[in-house]
Amino acid sequence: MPASKVYLIGAGPGDPELITLKAVKALQLAEVVLVDDLVNPALLTHCPQARIVPVGKRGGCKSTPQHFINRMLVALAGQGQTVVRLKGGDAFVFGRGGEEMLALRAANIPYEVIPGITSGLAACTSMEVPVTHRAFNHGVTLVTGHTQDGEPLPWRALVESNTTLVIYMGMQHVAEITRALLEAGMHADMPCMVVENGTRENQRAVVTALHAMPLGCHQQQFKSPAIIVVGEVVKLANSTQEQDWQAQLQAFASLASAA
Ligand code: SAH
Repeated sequence: MPASKVYLIGAGPGDPELITLKAVKALQLAEVVLVDDLVNPALLTHCPQARIVPVGKRGGCKSTPQHFINRMLVALAGQGQTVVRLKGGDAFVFGRGGEEMLALRAANIPYEVIPGITSGLAACTSMEVPVTHRAFNHGVTLVTGHTQDGEPLPWRALVESNTTLVIYMGMQHVAEITRALLEAGMHADMPCMVVENGTRENQRAVVTALHAMPLGCHQQQFKSPAIIVVGEVVKLANSTQEQDWQAQLQAFASLASAA
């Protein structure tokens, strides 16, 4: 394999076994690894030889701007190093991997993109929720719960699509998202769930009805990273993993009426 190549790798959703063999092989070749904070640090055991550069957007490196990461990738590869850019889930799903790829293309740097399992789909599957099931829907929509410029999402179209909605980056906006879906005509009892730290050892989930989702999240103090899933298929969630959603719904309803 030639030097000065950049691997843009999806590290998977969190469980360190949910990374591809191809990604592990690339990690074993790496001289330097630029790693995001959503990546499970356990994965770095595949590249003990490499220099690790954390470039996450939370925690210690809150301010690593994207253009700086792009420049760093180009510069390191320009020095003849084998570089891995390791990102949570899939690099091309709300991961800004597209921007990094374009910077590499513009600089004529050889690169390879290695797919990862995106957290939104993994969160559903880990809860035994099939994102599509022909008895319920004909598709799934991956959508952000938070747009960069505050531009509103096309909620009515999303509701009318009758697809399972898998919402990333929505945890800080659960109340607004719920209100927007209700205003767009979604049924208040639509099953939904929130999965925090999906596929990690500390995974937590709440399965509830749309109108009770903000209260459920608040009660259990759910935090990012978490995925919100809305749709009939959530009825199929494994209730042995979590409390039965009907029971939760009743509990939340009585809390709400007592408040
Ligand atoms: N490229 C990533 C998404 C990055 S955007 C992917 O494909 O998964 C960051 C958002 O991803 C978080 O706000 C959260 O909504 C979601 N996320 C990432 N890892 C997660 C996990 N283990 N469990 C639940 N949500 C997760």
